[in-house]
Amino acid sequence: MTDVLKFGGTSVGTAERIQDVARLVGTRGGDPCLVVVSAMGGVTDLLEALKSSSKVKDRAAAEAALEVLAARHRAALEALALPAAESRACAAALDEELRRARELSLGISLLEEISPRTSDALLAIGELISSRLVAAALRARGTDTVWIDPREILATDPTHGAAQPDEKEAARRVSARVVPELEAGRTVVTGGFVGAAPDGSTTTLGRGGSDYSAALFGAALYDAGRAVDRIEIWTDVDGILTADPRVVPAARLVPEVSAAEAAELAFFGAKVLHPATIRPAVARGIPVAVRNTFRPEGAGTVVRRDAAGTGVRAIAMRTGVTALFVGNPRMLLAYGYAARVFSVFERHRVSVDVIATSEVSISITVDERAPLEGVVRDLAEFAEVSLLPHLAVVSVVGKGLRSTAGIAVRVFGALGDVNVVLISQGASDTNVTFVVDADDAPKALRRLHREFFESEGHGR
Ligand code: ADP
Ligand code: ASP
Ligand code: MG
Repeated sequence: MTDVLKFGGTSVGTAERIQDVARLVGTRGGDPCLVVVSAMGGVTDLLEALKSSSKVKDRAAAEAALEVLAARHRAALEALALPAAESRACAAALDEELRRARELSLGISLLEEISPRTSDALLAIGELISSRLVAAALRARGTDTVWIDPREILATDPTHGAAQPDEKEAARRVSARVVPELEAGRTVVTGGFVGAAPDGSTTTLGRGGSDYSAALFGAALYDAGRAVDRIEIWTDVDGILTADPRVVPAARLVPEVSAAEAAELAFFGAKVLHPATIRPAVARGIPVAVRNTFRPEGAGTVVRRDAAGTGVRAIAMRTGVTALFVGNPRMLLAYGYAARVFSVFERHRVSVDVIATSEVSISITVDERAPLEGVVRDLAEFAEVSLLPHLAVVSVVGKGLRSTAGIAVRVFGALGDVNVVLISQGASDTNVTFVVDADDAPKALRRLHREFFESEGHGR
């Protein structure tokens, strides 16, 4: 029986926390686990900043970022106080990664350009270092542990920056590389977020992707014939809460959610789980638990294929959204018009989010970082287009919501004077979703939370 344990950035943010993780894994008992580790908290952001300053040839800023990168990891390595041989090996590996980071940064500055492939090579460095540190800390406290480079096992397609897994190939590699170690009684540590394309180049799964890695490794172990009890996502909150506690301090733990609810929450901005995490686990009936590294005694949240109960389970919001209003009064009801509108988005590979139609326009929200110029240009050939930036999508999530009488009245009643820009068509029975100005979103979230979780006879 193998568990897959994933530790997020804050859980491995300092040497002390890495020691805590090593203790938690080392004293767990039972069969050895597969441990998946994120970059130390803030490191992926730092690497992103390094990319940007390298590209604009701001060498002073780039060298400063490289210095922070080196200092942060060297300090952690030193504070881990590893046995001499272990410490030397770790320092050599760290120097090698830091050297690579500097070379990539210089290359980017030279070309004044970053290819997605180069970007991934740089971003992966955080996980490649942090996972080695965790493996070393485990070994230092006497747990028989092996570190495996995630590029040896997580096979992906070559879509750098948002790689899709090749689940069959990953299962083959996990079977060949990981299973024998586990069978020999060794704990296996690897990095999340990082994989390799068929040509061997480094890929990443997109921001927050270490959760997805954990689920993919769980699935690969299962496909390789190992019994996988559960996938545990260890983070800095007690589990999935009724709302983001940074926005709603009164948020409280949700002990159990269905996979559909968890997927909707993740999609609509509950950062605690990567949106793609659930799929490989649910497809194989493996439960996913979300737990707090800082309060390991708590049971956390369990995500199961089916979880009991209906009604509002949690509320999420996602900022950084822009709406496009696509109007053409003469054409709107014409056969093929909507298809024509959406084909523009498809052509530019921009994924659409909330969709609403009215008599005069189709309204569509997208991520504000999407390349919209081309979309707007192509749409303008046959429609009137206007943009409304700085929005947020707010979603009330729970099973059977659309069919629950009075939910909409409660949702929109609770919002009070918050202006609603768009309401989604309700394509799923698991959410009620609408769009507001980004500045109003925290207020909207708190009001909804009060309505569904803090008032008498709340929730479900
Ligand atoms: P990690 O580094 O462990 O992957 P993340 O920062 O990605 O952690 O996710 C954890 C954070 O998600 C929490 O600190 C919390 O602020 C945020 N979050 C957003 N929505 C929720 C929610 N509904 N329940 C719990 N946490 C949430
Ligand atoms: N380190 C990556 C990020 O910050 C992946 C992750 O932590 O899940 O996005
Ligand atoms: Mg995360």
